[in-house]
Amino acid sequence: MADFKLTYATMFNPPEELHSGFDKAVEKIKNNMGQEYGMFIDGKEIFADDKFDDHSPVNTDWVLAKMQKGNAKHAQLALAAARKAFPMWSHTPWQKRVEYLRKAASLIEERIFDLGAAMALEVGKNRMESLGDVQETADLIYYSCYQMEKNEGYIVEMGKDPLVGYEARNVSVLRPYGVWLVVSPFNFPHALTGGPSGAALAAGNTLVIKPATDTAWIVRLLVDCFRDAGIPDGVVNFVTGPGSTLGQALVDSPEVDGVTFTGSFDVGMKMFQDFGKRNYVRPIILELGGKNPVIVSKDADLERATIGILRSAFGLQGQKCSAASRVIVHEAVYDDLVGRLKDATSKLVIGDPTERGTYTGPVINASSYKEFKDFCEEINQGGGTFLTGGNVKSGGMYDKGYFCEPTFVTDLPFTHRLWKHEMFLPITTIGKVKDLDEAMRIANDVNYGLTAGFYGSPEETDWFFDHIEAGVTYANRPQGATTGAWPGFQPFGGWKGSGSSGKNAGGHYYLPLYMHEQIRTLVK
Ligand code: NAD
Repeated sequence: MADFKLTYATMFNPPEELHSGFDKAVEKIKNNMGQEYGMFIDGKEIFADDKFDDHSPVNTDWVLAKMQKGNAKHAQLALAAARKAFPMWSHTPWQKRVEYLRKAASLIEERIFDLGAAMALEVGKNRMESLGDVQETADLIYYSCYQMEKNEGYIVEMGKDPLVGYEARNVSVLRPYGVWLVVSPFNFPHALTGGPSGAALAAGNTLVIKPATDTAWIVRLLVDCFRDAGIPDGVVNFVTGPGSTLGQALVDSPEVDGVTFTGSFDVGMKMFQDFGKRNYVRPIILELGGKNPVIVSKDADLERATIGILRSAFGLQGQKCSAASRVIVHEAVYDDLVGRLKDATSKLVIGDPTERGTYTGPVINASSYKEFKDFCEEINQGGGTFLTGGNVKSGGMYDKGYFCEPTFVTDLPFTHRLWKHEMFLPITTIGKVKDLDEAMRIANDVNYGLTAGFYGSPEETDWFFDHIEAGVTYANRPQGATTGAWPGFQPFGGWKGSGSSGKNAGGHYYLPLYMHEQIRTLVK
């Protein structure tokens, strides 16, 4: 694998070693499922009175792990441990913190097959998406280390003020806030836990991590990498339990100095409002939903557009914040593109995501599965036509899990609410426009601004980049119309209702979000 670098853009043609390593890990994990895992607080395994079984969406008879149903008391314990560890960790030289983090990232890479196999079973992602999530986590952590080094710990000598009779030295230092809370979503449980955690830790904050309940196991396996890297007790704490109780207790606690929340718009906005009810304003980095458009011009390369749209619409079953959920097509090429999308979709294999040939696995849980059926019914009522899909899969293995058909919808009027609502499922609407200005108006007429794609002539691409309201934009990309960002290449973050900081993760400006500035003036 020496010449191969795994990213979401290179994952379509991996070397054979990736497949064989993954297959072995799946077998090993399937023989060893159902163990109990604790929470991890102050370096200790902590068990709650209540537990929950973590079922696979691939086959709900499979219990992957027994996890702890933590409560408000565990939230307080974790915060107290992080508070106690803060003076030590924040005064650990940044070079040493970076060393610990590089070790954690290298352990993640060493364990990529085991972690990837667990991810496929718990999230339902296909094997390359799963391995990608794990590698992205390591790369996000490495990127924070690199930024810390490149900026020499963010210690900057400022100008000397023109004092008469005195000499002053002015230094700007970025310093950590304190206890940082990371709340992550189910769909990229590693990258969106490990990425912000790596940044918070490199900056010198201590951590409390709360994963989504559906993906508590795989995040626990990530926390093991931080533990095994030798990061001191209390610096990384991990609690599991319902967002509405344990999560809310964390958000309401005055002990939290900063938060990174990645998840839905509604939960994130509520958190923002609750978090604002404190004695002073604290940083809250929100990475929220998307309703990502793809615009296809009459001069587009339709072969590229077809494959790029297909990958971004149905990768991870449409459960990506960056999924292509709206396709807006110039009328001159509409029929041609729609025909190609229909053909290409019919070739997608739906099934067990650990298997080599599968592109589309199950959706995450019973409530998403029900929502899929409800949305299809609503589309039907609203005048939409199912170009592909429109049903859940049934029969054989499909009856054991949450499998839905990849669904392209045409004829749904642009005025229908589902053109603006994030469904977070394998459902993408396709509409026809007379010109590119109309396409752009529709593309921007949503509350979100996360990712966007364009297919057209080289002359049109600058116009697209200049006018689209989104934080991550792609033109003429067959690897994914709206998906597939990678740290260091495509830093990831959203505008408008898709994000609060305006600075993208895995990019130049991200790490300073985890620190506040102190100016040190010393008069000799
Ligand atoms: P979600 O909002 O339901 O949950 C996210 C996290 O918040 C989970 O850990 C959940 O347990 C927790 N939570 C829920 N209620 C809480 C509360 N009251 N207090 C504290 N924590 C609480 O999101 P999800 O279904 O896990 O993920 C899907 C959503 O995430 C989609 O909207 C998607 O677009 C978004 N997302 C955004 C990005 C991005 O980078 N912008 C990336 C991935 C996912």
